[in-house]
Amino acid sequence: MTWIDDLKDLLFPRYCKVCGRRLMKSERHLCLYCLLELPRTHYERNPNNQLMQHFMEWPEVVHATAYLYYHKEGRYSSLIHHLKYYDHPEVGTYLGRLAATELKASGFFEGIDLIVPVPLSKKKFRKRGYNQCDYIAHGISQVIGVDVHTHCIGRTIDTDTQTRKGRTERWKNTEGIFCIVDDDALRGKHILLIDDVATTGATLHACISTLLTVQDIRISVFALSKAE
Ligand SMILES: [Zn+2]
Repeated sequence: MTWIDDLKDLLFPRYCKVCGRRLMKSERHLCLYCLLELPRTHYERNPNNQLMQHFMEWPEVVHATAYLYYHKEGRYSSLIHHLKYYDHPEVGTYLGRLAATELKASGFFEGIDLIVPVPLSKKKFRKRGYNQCDYIAHGISQVIGVDVHTHCIGRTIDTDTQTRKGRTERWKNTEGIFCIVDDDALRGKHILLIDDVATTGATLHACISTLLTVQDIRISVFALSKAE
């Protein structure tokens, strides 16, 4: 830390995005207590975890994990809200980096050739100004040293917001919403697909079924959180 950082900290104090406590100079986004208490799933220790259950039908899906549990009313939901709704995409990079640092030793990222974030609908992208999955992907990329490709797959149609829909409706709503944009970049590769919140798994399921039209592709899935 330089004196400029000291001064910045004095003039613009930073607060924990979970508990609101003022952050120490060495802390970023979360205080040490909230960092230690993050509701980690530890799914990487269980190859047949709850997220992977959604993709068992496909041998091309190598691993799937979610880093955190997400409860709508839980104290950590504010992290996802900052990332998605309060214009703090840098929280995604921070959490992606944190998750990758912790998961690296498990071998989860071994053999990954490229990182592909799940694309956002055009409507949502226009409204939000960014795709939060891109930021999570960049955080992971900084740790594992694999490139992020944001234009290999696209969204064909704008689906309405999923949050208020029931389970069956969500599944119906996600069929055929993705398309392959750059087949060459994906062919023969092991890709790491990045999502922010996996809820029913419907969006990831639709995205993977589109990706599987590419020859010799293998897919691992990383979701920042799994809704409970
Ligand atoms: Zn805190």
